[in-house]
Amino acid sequence: MGKRDPSGPRPAFVTLRDLPGTRVMFWVVGDCPYCGGQHLHPAGNLRTADPSERLGEQPAACDPGRTYELLLPPRPKKKTGKQERRRARREGKLSDRDDENW
Ligand SMILES: [Zn+2]
Repeated sequence: MGKRDPSGPRPAFVTLRDLPGTRVMFWVVGDCPYCGGQHLHPAGNLRTADPSERLGEQPAACDPGRTYELLLPPRPKKKTGKQERRRARREGKLSDRDDENW
C-alpha cells in the first residue's frame, strides 16, 4: 500500500470543460481508474494554452502517489463505425467465398 503501481499509469478518459464566464479550461476525468470518482485538472487559459499539452501522465487527484494518463475518449461515432465494420466483414466473407469457388 502506498507503493507506486509498477504497471505504470492507468488510462483515464477526459472531457474538456470550460468554466462559464471565464477562459479557464479543465480536463474532467469522468471515471477515475483508482477511485471511480470525478476529478478536475486545470488545462490552462483558453486563449494562451493548448489543452492537449496537459494530457498524458498526471498525478491522480485522489492519490498523489499514483499517476494516470489523461486520454481523450474514442470518438462517439462508434455506433456507425461498428456497423460499417460489420458490413465490411460480411463483404470480405463473400469475397473469400468467391475465392474458394475460384
Ligand atoms: Zn480518483
